[in-house]
Parts: sequence; C-alpha cells; structure tokens
Amino acid sequence: MTVTSLYPRLEPLLTQVAKPVQYIGGEVNSVSKPFADAEVRWVLMYPDTYEVGQPNQGLAILYELLNERDWLLAERSFSIWPDLAALMREAGVPQFTWENHLPVRDFDVLGVSFSTELGYTNLLEALDLAQIALHAADRGEDEPLVIAGGHAAFNPEPIADFIDAAVLGDGEEAALKVSAIVRQWKTEGRPGGRAGVLRRLAASRVAYVPSLYEVSYADNGELAAVTPIEATVPDTVAKHTLMELDEWPYPSRPIVPLAETVHERYSVEIFRGCTRGCRFCQAGMITRPVRERNIETIGRMVEGGIAATGLDEVGLLSLSSADHSEIGPITSQLAERYSDSFVSLSLPSTRVDAFNIDLADELSRNGRRSGLTFAPEGGSERLRKVINKQVSEDDLIATVAAAFGRGWRQVKLYFMCGLPTETDEDVLAIADMAFRVIETGRQAAGTRDIRCTISIGGFVPKAHTPFQWAAQADVETIDRRLRALKDKVRSDRRYGRFVTVRYHDGKPGQIEGLLSRGDRRLGPVIESVWRDGGKLDGWSEHFSYDRWEAAAERELAPHGIDLAWYTTRERRHREVLPWDHLDAGLDREWLWQDYEDAIAEADVPDCRWSGCYNCGVCPAQGTEIQIGPTGRSLLPLQVVSTH
Ligand code: SF4
Repeated sequence: MTVTSLYPRLEPLLTQVAKPVQYIGGEVNSVSKPFADAEVRWVLMYPDTYEVGQPNQGLAILYELLNERDWLLAERSFSIWPDLAALMREAGVPQFTWENHLPVRDFDVLGVSFSTELGYTNLLEALDLAQIALHAADRGEDEPLVIAGGHAAFNPEPIADFIDAAVLGDGEEAALKVSAIVRQWKTEGRPGGRAGVLRRLAASRVAYVPSLYEVSYADNGELAAVTPIEATVPDTVAKHTLMELDEWPYPSRPIVPLAETVHERYSVEIFRGCTRGCRFCQAGMITRPVRERNIETIGRMVEGGIAATGLDEVGLLSLSSADHSEIGPITSQLAERYSDSFVSLSLPSTRVDAFNIDLADELSRNGRRSGLTFAPEGGSERLRKVINKQVSEDDLIATVAAAFGRGWRQVKLYFMCGLPTETDEDVLAIADMAFRVIETGRQAAGTRDIRCTISIGGFVPKAHTPFQWAAQADVETIDRRLRALKDKVRSDRRYGRFVTVRYHDGKPGQIEGLLSRGDRRLGPVIESVWRDGGKLDGWSEHFSYDRWEAAAERELAPHGIDLAWYTTRERRHREVLPWDHLDAGLDREWLWQDYEDAIAEADVPDCRWSGCYNCGVCPAQGTEIQIGPTGRSLLPLQVVSTH
C-alpha cells in the first residue's frame, strides 16, 4: 500500500498560522518507518494540542513499544488549532500524522487516549478533519478502527456512537493484543469486514465494543440494562493490569519536542496504582493494585533516558511518589549520582509529612528550591475524613515549619470545592489554614517574606469511585463558596496579602461531571456542541458553558432528563450505572460501603501497611500488591558529570 505525504500541501498553510513548529514533527527520537513494510499501522492520538499532548506518558510508552516490533508502526497525531483547521478544510488537507504527514484515514487503528472528558469534542473535530465518518455505524471498510483508551475509557458510554472500541486499563499488553488480532484478521483476508474484527476484539475480552451492547431505559429516565446482543460477547469487560513493571521499562527514548510543551522532562514511573484510598480520586481507584518498579530498573531508566534525550530534568512519577517503599534510597542515590551534573530531579509530592521535606531537601541539592506543593484537598479536618485524605492540620503545619526552617519561602496548597457533605465553613477553613501556614512560616524562617498560594478546583464525581453515587455541587454553590473564601482572605489585614487564591469557576467542572457519569444519550449532546463550533473545551478561551447548556437542553428534553439529572442528582444504591458492565476490579458493594463510610466520616487505612480490606481488585484481577523493599541499591556509585 502506498500513501502520499500531505506535507507539500500542508507547508504553505503553516506560514499563515500560530506556532507552526508544533506541526512539523522530525523531533529527536521520533520514529519514521516505511509504511508499506508494516502489517498493522497505528495512529496514536492525544486529543488536545501538541503542547499539551506530547508529554503524555501513556502515549510515549505505546509509541515506543509498538514501533519496536518490525510488523507494527505507530505515528502520532494531535488536535489542530482552529487557525490551521480552517485552512486545511479550505484546501482539502485532512488530519495528518506528525512523523510522515500521512492521512490518518489510511491507518488501520486510530488509538485515542483520553485523560479528560473535555477532550470528546476534539475527537469529533479530528474525525471530521480526517474525513472519517463521525459515527462508528457509518464507517466503511477502508476506515480505521477508532479505539479509546485512558482514564475516560472507564466510562466511554457518552462517546459510544463515535468509537469502535475502548480498551480499559494498562495499555502495554492490550495494544499488542489488539494488534495481533487485527494482524490475524488482515492475514486471513478480513473475514466479516469491520464487524468481523470488532467481534473478535469483543470475544477475546481485549476491548469493549459498544455497538455489541444494547441499552434500555426505565420510565423514570434511569438505565434499565446494558446487554450484549450476541452470545459470544461477554456481559462485562475487565480492565487490563500490567504486572512486572520491571519487564516493561518504557519509555526509554521519549521524543524531545521542538516546540514548547507543558513540561519537558524525562519521566520515570516509579510505581503504578495507589491504595491511599482518597475517595474522590478516580486514578487511585482504577489503577489498583500498587506495583512498584525496583530501584535498579529506575536507575537504568534514568541513566538511559538522560543519555537518549539530553533532558536535564528527571521526574519520578506516580500518583504519590513518596510512597515508594524505597523512595529514600532512590532519591538519595540518584541525587548523589547526578550531584556533579546539570540533571535535577523532581518528585510530584503530595503527601504531607516531615519525610517529604527530607526528600525535597535531597532533590534540591543541585540548587533549585522552588515552592513546595501539598494537597490537603479539604479545608477542615471533618471534610478530610469524608474524602479519606488522612492529613491532619497539625501534620501540615509541622511539615511547613520544617520546610520554612530549611530555606523554603513558598508553599502551594491544593484543595477541592464542592465535595460531598461540604459546608460553607469547610471552605472558609481553607483561609484559616493558609493564615496558620504564614504565621508558622514566619516564626520558623525568622522573616515576614513567606507566601502561600491556595489553588482550588471544583470537585467532579467520577465513575468507579465511592462518590460515583454522589450529587455534584451546583455551579452557584461552588462559585458562592469560593467568592466567600476570597473575601475572607482579602479582608484579613495581617496575612491576607501574603496569600494568593487561585480558582477556576465551576462551569467546566459541571460539563466534565455531565460527561464523566453520562450514558449514550449524551452522544447527540456532544455532537450538537461540536456542530455548534465547540472544541478545545479544556481551554478557557474556547469553552462555552452556554453552548453545552443549550445542547443538553435540546437533546435531553425528549428523554425527560436534563443536565442537572446527570450532575446534581444523587444516584440510588441499586440504580444501574452506565459503567456497571465495565469492570475496574472494584467490588460494587465495597464502593457503596466506602461511600457510606464517607458520609459517616470514617476513614480507611492503606492496604499496603494495614492489610487487605477487600476492595475486590486483587482477587477479581488475579493480581496482588507488589511492593518492596528489595534492599537493592544503585551502587557501585558512579558520579556523573556533564560539566
Ligand atoms: S484487594 Fe485488598 S490488597 Fe488488593 S488493592 Fe484491594 S484492599 Fe488492597
């Protein structure tokens, strides 16, 4: 099969748009393989702009492991900014890949990784630009299979009309299994056409194929059932869980972007999964159990990654990096190894204790001592019990005092507003906490020049969490509470001007809430928003609440439901939820019990240290927690110099 590069037609357009460099590809470590030689060809797409999507870790992992196989090929694609999209439509240039500027439509599989539901309109925009039928049901034999992945794929029902399949959970083995099925089907002469390969994907339980399930609704608007339409199609589809992270040391050679991106560092995932049990956190719930990468693999990946990229920042990535059983030796030995180089280490650090200060101290040996960030999430002790964020205000203050005593001058605190059971007082308590931070900081540092930034986002209940049944707070409540908080901070004469309050208005969160717990009746809403010009909804300059509200009103009225029905309504325990047939491993009854515990302000410990409390994941998935310590080390020590 021969395909022709679109670049000669694209290049003249690039001179007329903003940031043309983001579209040209050709970056260090990008892979360009002969199209004709591959048996299965993927486009890996992140449905946002290059600057947001390129650093995505999941995309980097799949890109590398697919391209390592000689029978596979993977190229990338991202959302096109409206200036170029308009010119492309005018000139008839379709959505392209970054490596060889080939038409996305000519590939076998278009894999789209969703980190957020606000990327759904970007999927429609990309399909339309690619000249691929918007609706899976209308796609022809020569069009790619559109497969969703990422966290939002755990409830892909709102986009069921537009995707052919969804893969739940870890993508490494799953992408290879999908590839093998597509390869076999092609080798056999494509028996049964598109429907044939989709049936194989469904029957093998590798992917969820929405078109093979029928959804029925009760008179009150609730779902009645989601049922397979064929005997070979499973009732439920389970997530993929990769065990033995050490055998999958990806990415080892990530692409180094030419254009500016949201962050430029080499990231090593030091463990996957989290069992801290924060009840609002979908990532923690759906990625269980905890699987650690060992210190030797981490050391090898850091060494190889720096050599392959020339990047000078290494991020030790996970949902709560300080929880790795050997985080002390990892940070101190890496800091030692790179102490005489330009390489700096960073740790997404959200746990609030003195140990983290030791780590931060270790990591800032090379000179950088920017602000410290903690995420208490809830302003009051009571609310933190509700969300199972086991951090006391005294812990936080002790940690902050230690940090200010050792030279830090700034602390950033993350919170959420609109959490279940939240009152105005819970939110106003955020200000009191910030004032205490300043006061303690001044005493510990012996200076008045202490700053605290509080950053607040609206809480969005997500599928597969204990709060999947909870009512989302409405926009007015969130905005009113945040205004009151800002007023309280501003009017404080002693500390007010040393505290910065950052918050987003509640409207995008409301739409994220609509989509995250939505069902197939939202397909026409998403399509209507996109047809009305909606795209890049994650960008405040493009997001329009009015557009979403109008589309929801229009499309949902015939079903007797509305936006509030999806967002601010508490679900019944026994209500059929749109994602009940998609199995993240968590026992539904355990989730309900945890929801009741939340309302009762009862906390649940971490099973890594307190024993199993039967959330269901390990037996359901045939997996287990994999944690150290291994007692290994990076020694013999080699100090690396890049001077
Ligand atoms: S099944 Fe038990 S050990 Fe496994 S993640 Fe759940 S609580 Fe932890």
